[in-house]
This record gives sequence, structure tokens and C-alpha cells, in this order.
Amino acid sequence: MNIISLRLAEYLITNYGMYMNDIEKEAIDHIRTTRLMDLAGKHFSYDDRNVLRQKGLLSTKPVVLELANLGQDNLMRRIGARIINDHTEEIRFDFCPDCGRLLPALGAKCETCIPQEGFVEDLLFSN
Ligand SMILES: [Zn+2]
Repeated sequence: MNIISLRLAEYLITNYGMYMNDIEKEAIDHIRTTRLMDLAGKHFSYDDRNVLRQKGLLSTKPVVLELANLGQDNLMRRIGARIINDHTEEIRFDFCPDCGRLLPALGAKCETCIPQEGFVEDLLFSN
């Protein structure tokens, strides 16, 4: 399976996340939850963790933890690569008509070609 760029992986997961399987979804949730727990910086008791497990936000399944151990970026690239392999026919790409960059999502505006904040005002109102 070819490794794809993070940008392409994000595009695929944003637009075609419905093709993620349950294990992939659980691994993404597990990573997000552990990151939030780290950010919160408080000690999470066994009971706290149990609540998160019951909500399906933390996993104890070895197959899920193995994926989660790849880290978010690598996991997203792996999921994106699998989605594009398994759903080649369904995937559509949306490129910016001006610069040709892959847009962040289908029908989204290009971040590169969006005028900088204040640009239009400067153009209209500056002397
Ligand atoms: Zn563009």
C-alpha cells in the first residue's frame, strides 16, 4: 500500500470518512481522547477512564491500540491509502481552478487563493 501525503489523507477522511471501518474509527477516537486527556493535564482516575471506555472513546482492544500507536498523522495516511485503494471508483477530487491545489474538501474554497483579510478593504478604500 502506497503512503500518501497527509493533505491527501485529510481530504479523503474529510470527504469519505464514511468508508472508515469500525477499528479505524475507534483508533482515531482513542487518539483524540488521549490527546484531550493530555491537554487537560489532570489525573484521570480508573473510573474516569472506565466512563470513556464505556462511551467508546478509549479502547482496550489490541487491534485498535496497535493502529492508535501509529500516531494520528501516520494513522490518517494509512486510512487514506486504504480508502483510496478500496474505493477508487467512488473517490472524486476537487482542485482549485486557479492554482490547481487539492481543495481541503469537496466544494471548499482554496486557502491559498482566498484574499488575505483586509485585502479587499485595502483595494476598495485605500487612497
Ligand atoms: Zn487556489
